[in-house]
Amino acid sequence: MQTDQKLPAVFLEAMERLLGDDYQEFLNSYDQPRRNGLRVNRLRVAPEEFLRTAPFRVEPIPWADNGFYVDYRDMPARHPWYNAGVYYLQEPSAMAPAQILPAEPGDRVLDLCAAPGGKATELGAKLAGEGLLVANEISASRVRALLRNIEQSGIPNALVTNETPAHLAERFPEFFDKVLVDAPCSGEGMFRKDPDVVRAWYPEKVAECAAVQREIILQAADMLRPGGCMVYSTCTFAPEENELVLLHLLKNRPQMELVQIAHTEGRESFSSAFSIEKLRECGYDTGEESFGTDLTRAVRIWPHKVGGEGHFTALLKKRSESSQFVGRKSSAGKGKKAAKGGRETGMTREDLGYLTEFLRRFLPQTQIAADRLENHGGKLYLSPEGLPNVRGLTFLRNGLYLGDLKKNRFEPAQELAMALPSGTQGEERISFTASDERTVQYLRGEPVRISEDRENGWYLVCVDGYPLGWGKLTKGLLKNKLLAGWRN
Ligand code: SAM
Repeated sequence: MQTDQKLPAVFLEAMERLLGDDYQEFLNSYDQPRRNGLRVNRLRVAPEEFLRTAPFRVEPIPWADNGFYVDYRDMPARHPWYNAGVYYLQEPSAMAPAQILPAEPGDRVLDLCAAPGGKATELGAKLAGEGLLVANEISASRVRALLRNIEQSGIPNALVTNETPAHLAERFPEFFDKVLVDAPCSGEGMFRKDPDVVRAWYPEKVAECAAVQREIILQAADMLRPGGCMVYSTCTFAPEENELVLLHLLKNRPQMELVQIAHTEGRESFSSAFSIEKLRECGYDTGEESFGTDLTRAVRIWPHKVGGEGHFTALLKKRSESSQFVGRKSSAGKGKKAAKGGRETGMTREDLGYLTEFLRRFLPQTQIAADRLENHGGKLYLSPEGLPNVRGLTFLRNGLYLGDLKKNRFEPAQELAMALPSGTQGEERISFTASDERTVQYLRGEPVRISEDRENGWYLVCVDGYPLGWGKLTKGLLKNKLLAGWRN
């Protein structure tokens, strides 16, 4: 057959040892077409409503309540709902980790290896605007895509950092309620999806990645508060990068315990991770001890068992009784007041007036606490609740960019448009249908003629009620304020 000629021999030998009777079925999966998915943005629309109104064929993904299989020939990335951040295109198995991490509104959540944001955008949506999402990415180039996806998803309460896990761990000891470590890995689970990943693989890569993973999983655990939950995930099959990393964690951080991931709620087709006994039998160095754990509580997602690629996910908890940092206080815990050092927001009463007038029109029900407003040289931001001290951290975004204070006026930012609620009603909105030629014109950055009688001024331009960006109306002509990088 074709497949085994394309895949590295060392990889195939390891898989044959691990899979035994299932090996041939696993190998056959490489000749099957892969399935694609999209994940609905809960901040825009409820999954049930999306299923009812989807503009192309979709089919629910069993393990993700907002995940749907989609045929890429229907070109979901070309539909205006994509521009409006209604959904994120994501490989189906990759939806599992953020589903399994029980993030809730009000939580402080860390996504340690977040770019391009497939999981961070789901975690941000789960927060529903309450609490804090710290989305971190070590790579200075990849963090830009992360920021863009967070903005496009309309997440208002994110701190997007470009830091090493070690520096974050120093700054945020036991600060987070929930942590996701979607670790950099050798990517064996993506061999079917992306031939470049096969080409980039070499036998030593597994050990190299494992060394990084062993380090960052400890740093991640140190940032979790007692009683908090953490998910560790990879898209690779090598036990060195999965079960053995968990053993390393449990050995070095005895306050962490592995939690059983239930094989229910659509996860019936997930498999248990390998047991210590099985790994020993296959020649893996697990050490003498098992640290009282049953590794099979974690899950493996196999491409020959589900409609998705290969993944590994473990749910962990830090025991609530013990803090590992006796007598040490989190500098992050000092909170917002200390972070600002008692500074004023840097806005005059007049500036505040322009902003308030604008926001009253677009967010009439919402009260914005003045102490969450930050003015950086005329650029206004709304910082998230409970924002830690960010001084000394490299970050790209700290909350929501509201817009710019100009002479005697306020100019709203694209990011503010994206963070506004969906809806077709309201005098301040102009909503076109997806098939309306004016939607295409607007997304191309062209001015749009409006036939109804409307007052001059700023309008939130929407497609089917989902915000796309701003327009400024003068005598029936809507000047296009869609940011250049957001146009089609
Ligand atoms: N969670 C992302 C998503 O769902 O879109 C995918 C993350 S990807 C599997 C792993 C990320 O870890 C990459 O963006 C990579 O740049 C980053 N990374 C690489 N080396 C790292 C290190 N030493 N520490 C932390 N992150 C690292």
